[in-house]
Amino acid sequence: MKLETDVLVIGGGMAGLTAACTAAEAGASITVVRKGHGATADSSGAIDIAGYLPGGSTPFGSAREGLQALVGLFPYHPYSVLGRVAADAESQFDQVLERVTDSVSSLKRWLSGSPAEVMGSLDHNISAVTVLGSTKPTSLLQTTMTPPEWDDDSTLLFAGFRGHSDFNASLAAKTFMAAQARLGEPPRRIADAQLSLAPFGKPYNVSSIEIARHLDHPGGIDALAEELSGHVERIGATHIALPPVLGLKRPAKNRSLLEELIEAQIFELLSFPPSVPGLRLLRSLDAALIGFGGRILEAHEAVGYEKSGSEISRIKCTTHHRTLEMLPSSVVIAGGKFIGGGIIGTEDGLTEPLFGLPVVSEDWTSTAGIRPQRLTRPVSITSEGHGLFACGLAVDKLLRPLDESGDTFANNLFSAGGMMAGYNYPVEKSGLGVALATGVTAGMNAVERVQEGRI
Ligand SMILES: Cc1cc2nc3c(=O)[nH]c(=O)nc-3n(C[C@H](O)[C@H](O)[C@H](O)COP(=O)(O)OP(=O)(O)OC[C@H]3O[C@@H](n4cnc5c(N)ncnc54)[C@H](O)[C@@H]3O)c2cc1C
Repeated sequence: MKLETDVLVIGGGMAGLTAACTAAEAGASITVVRKGHGATADSSGAIDIAGYLPGGSTPFGSAREGLQALVGLFPYHPYSVLGRVAADAESQFDQVLERVTDSVSSLKRWLSGSPAEVMGSLDHNISAVTVLGSTKPTSLLQTTMTPPEWDDDSTLLFAGFRGHSDFNASLAAKTFMAAQARLGEPPRRIADAQLSLAPFGKPYNVSSIEIARHLDHPGGIDALAEELSGHVERIGATHIALPPVLGLKRPAKNRSLLEELIEAQIFELLSFPPSVPGLRLLRSLDAALIGFGGRILEAHEAVGYEKSGSEISRIKCTTHHRTLEMLPSSVVIAGGKFIGGGIIGTEDGLTEPLFGLPVVSEDWTSTAGIRPQRLTRPVSITSEGHGLFACGLAVDKLLRPLDESGDTFANNLFSAGGMMAGYNYPVEKSGLGVALATGVTAGMNAVERVQEGRI
């Protein structure tokens, strides 16, 4: 079966979906093929743009400050590459800032009114609280995850659920209290509680997703309010920190109802996978794309390609019951890194499995023949991070991947997100921010290519 499309997007995470929404909004016909879930679904859902300098321990006060530092120091960083279309070196940073600012505005518009609606800006990094009771700098947060402004009268209750082993309320409370005391900042009264909810009658081995589904059901929030109210009264809690379980479909409404019932402010913490906010983000972007007339082919994997001249002319996609020949005018490859499967590591080295593109390291030197183990450090967590995370594709100024000789591989192939080399998202706290800014840019460039082809 053959399928024509203006833009084919390979990969349906943050990068692929934002590329697709951008291109669809510009009027192009879009098909996304997604073989499965990638890192976006696993992420905490907090959109980090620039949190730290690699090796640094003081967070950037704002994404704007972080972007300036990263672009100034790392010429191969994807943010720096966004500035390469600028007319001269002086206007390079302005170009980056404009691109990231526009991407954030687009994302806010697409997510507006959705379960993953976000707030925040490039002017101020938010200190988000995690399920460990630690904090991390991030730029955009889903509205239900935004921590309140504390004052001296605030009393915070960390509330966990019996049978939900992903969150230890007592540990989180102790860690957060110690950190606030060190900083000399409120809240000064912090407590913890264990709630019994037994979603769908299940008393143990409960996942965040099951609790979220339960709370989306009629009566779910009333049951939670009943459980919480005794604890709130006992300690006079003004604020409640919950793991991120306030619902997959209507977290903001669920939160308002709960706040009304217990008369305290609620916010969700950032968590590890399985991540309800990560799923909310993914599903909300899917819905935005479908609203623009885009098509998402789930469980379809791009497995082969044909090139005619300097253009990709066909992409072969398979699923368990059929094979499709996609005939795109432009292609965006946004397969993520090791979780998405856009880059894979074997005993022999790192490879990009679809086009066989060369995988390069942080400074765009070849990794050919280097075993992945040699790109990691003996200590598993360091402030510098592992070189492995910074490996990926080298690209030209339009985000088109480069071949072995450093030339553009194909004029109509663009890349975005975790596949790109030159940044170390776990230490920088820049993962979803890079995916967003490069996704939007790749989508714009892909549409321009379609339009050039029509002239
Ligand atoms: C546990 C964890 C927590 C994180 N937390 C945060 C956080 O709090 N904040 C933050 O900013 N960042 C966070 N990150 C980083 C962030 O999630 C990633 O940087 C970002 O999601 C990358 O997006 P992506 O679209 O490039 O890739 P992915 O989300 O991995 O998407 C890749 C997609 O491509 C598909 N795919 C791959 N190959 C093919 C193919 N051949 N055919 C069809 N489909 C294909 C995959 O199935 C997947 O759908 C976290 C990452 C992890 C792993």
